[in-house]
Amino acid sequence: MEHVVVVGAGLAGWRAAEALRREGHGGRLTLVGAEPHLPYDRPPLSKDVLRGETAPEAVALAGREAIDAVVDELRLGQPAVALRAAERTIVLADGTELAADGIVLATGATPRRLPGTEGLDGVFVLRTLDDAVGLRAALGGAQRVVVVGAGFIGAEVAASCRSLGLEVDVVEALPAPLPPGLGALVGEACAQLHRDRGVTLHLGVGVQSIEGGGSGRVERVVLADGTVLEADVVVVGIGVRPETAWLEGSGLQVGDGVLCDPTCAALAESGGVAEGIVVAGDLCRWTNPLFDESMRVEHWDNAVEQAEAAARRLVQGLDALPYAPVPYFWSDQYDTKIQFAGRAGAGDEFAVVHGAVADGKWVGIYGRADRLVGVVAFSWPRHVVRYRRLIAERASFSEAVAAASG
Ligand SMILES: Cc1cc2nc3c(=O)[nH]c(=O)nc-3n(C[C@H](O)[C@H](O)[C@H](O)COP(=O)(O)OP(=O)(O)OC[C@H]3O[C@@H](n4cnc5c(N)ncnc54)[C@H](O)[C@@H]3O)c2cc1C
Repeated sequence: MEHVVVVGAGLAGWRAAEALRREGHGGRLTLVGAEPHLPYDRPPLSKDVLRGETAPEAVALAGREAIDAVVDELRLGQPAVALRAAERTIVLADGTELAADGIVLATGATPRRLPGTEGLDGVFVLRTLDDAVGLRAALGGAQRVVVVGAGFIGAEVAASCRSLGLEVDVVEALPAPLPPGLGALVGEACAQLHRDRGVTLHLGVGVQSIEGGGSGRVERVVLADGTVLEADVVVVGIGVRPETAWLEGSGLQVGDGVLCDPTCAALAESGGVAEGIVVAGDLCRWTNPLFDESMRVEHWDNAVEQAEAAARRLVQGLDALPYAPVPYFWSDQYDTKIQFAGRAGAGDEFAVVHGAVADGKWVGIYGRADRLVGVVAFSWPRHVVRYRRLIAERASFSEAVAAASG
């Protein structure tokens, strides 16, 4: 390939660029990013950066020199606004058209916002470095923070704000924090972590309105049950949607993400694979053969591993193997590391196989039709590595439970 363009200069985009070189791409390589920053890492934004323990500049994934050694042309602050898949041509916001032999799509995801909060000072989402810098500055003058949404981002923001000594209320429409597929026990264990640290949780109740005063600054959050929470800062963490808006009319199949075959090759609207276009990271929806399930994974590990798989697909073509990972994520809240590998959902069997939930250090595993499909751990990383391997080997759930107790 003479020219490969990677769209999205985040984790998956940067790692795909590196992998393309490792896989032997010797032609031109262009990396396009909407943000003005060099590629950077997001996990610290809700943790160390928010607590002021890591400087924002320290989250860069690579320095300019290392990037220049991989990428011929770096177009930052320049979003792609359109793709013509059949011609493999990308249009940038300034009108530039980039024709390519290979394209990696890695535009990630964008946070959902609460309607009616536009233009209200003190209401934040947390996705970008600029979001984190703005939120950190606002926390400096704040006493009371309301976090809307108790998924991973909301729970981490609540933990970081509490660690800074702020009064924190968390509002969650579901009955417990974290994705419900992880099960009630995991949600309750996470809820307890926060209660123990003095966070007030409002579970099973939605937000009715977020209101400001005459100054245009947020002042309170009103819940559906009439509760009024005074707030200096509100952080909305109610999930993300894949960044596909710019791909409308591209000729690719777009649903909840860009639809791909099991090798991460994008599917064309006209049917079959859109040759020369691959997808990685939060944007990609593909069928994972290990679970025989269509999935889109919004976690760090997947962005890295899928970027490598997508780069292989581009360079090796049809020789590339399907991408069949055991998805993995971690979340740091206070001094607890929550880790999960595999899949979990309603109806799965669940057993605590090591430790005790009350001690804060424990491991649970998930089974489906007697197959081990998932593992969750609170502050016990060693076991996650072991069970993740067993999940990849399609081990039996009952045998794993028996082995743990024996
Ligand atoms: C605050 C925070 C904390 C997190 N913590 C954890 C954690 O503890 N553990 C974990 O497993 N995962 C965590 N994650 C998730 C993880 O960071 C993401 O899964 C990962 O960043 C996904 O990488 P990506 O490259 O697909 O998307 P992104 O990192 O979102 O990168 C996409 C890039 O594309 C750019 N872009 C968007 N549209 C365009 C366009 N039209 N043209 C050009 N460029 C465009 C964006 O500006 C962005 O830079 C966290 C995420 C956040 C936000």
